[in-house]
Amino acid sequence: MTRFLLTEMDIAVVPLGGVGKNEIEGIARFLEGKLGRKVGIREGILPSGRAFSQKRGQFDGEILLAQLSGYKREGEALLAITDEDLFVPGLNFIFGISKIGGGIAILSLRRLREAAGRPLSRQRYEERVRKEVLHEVGHAAGLTHCKDDCVMKFSNSIYEVDEKNEDMCDRHKSQFLQYLNP
Ligand SMILES: [Zn+2]
Ligand SMILES: [Zn+2]
Repeated sequence: MTRFLLTEMDIAVVPLGGVGKNEIEGIARFLEGKLGRKVGIREGILPSGRAFSQKRGQFDGEILLAQLSGYKREGEALLAITDEDLFVPGLNFIFGISKIGGGIAILSLRRLREAAGRPLSRQRYEERVRKEVLHEVGHAAGLTHCKDDCVMKFSNSIYEVDEKNEDMCDRHKSQFLQYLNP
């Protein structure tokens, strides 16, 4: 597998199905600030009907990743944002999915809107989005899950998303920087 090197790549955010324009622009701006480089926005695409499970009312994340592989341009890292609910076989749902080290990631906003026992403020929602964007982009760059207090920690529930650190641990931060400045 060729390693995804951010310095050689353009980064693009692409809406996968209906997603608010402001939402997409907010994510692109966040990534620009975080990575210190230009992040483009590509024209939206529709999630493949083949990925939809009638029985579950959800989209299969693996099939969507395969769909995006065909859409990714050479020398580009792609972050797809969807409002559809995602799953992979064996899990009830997933917040997102990435091709680890492969420069492709998908994030679903659907479950990030869960109130989780208290009113959901705009602030808390945006914090969740930032955490999960960074988490998925981290995977796309080659980072794996972390057991420390780190944004790369695996989240099984929205409570775990709220609890985890918004930033990377020192180990992951330096790994990630190597991808940015190899
Ligand atoms: Zn993960
Ligand atoms: Zn970590």
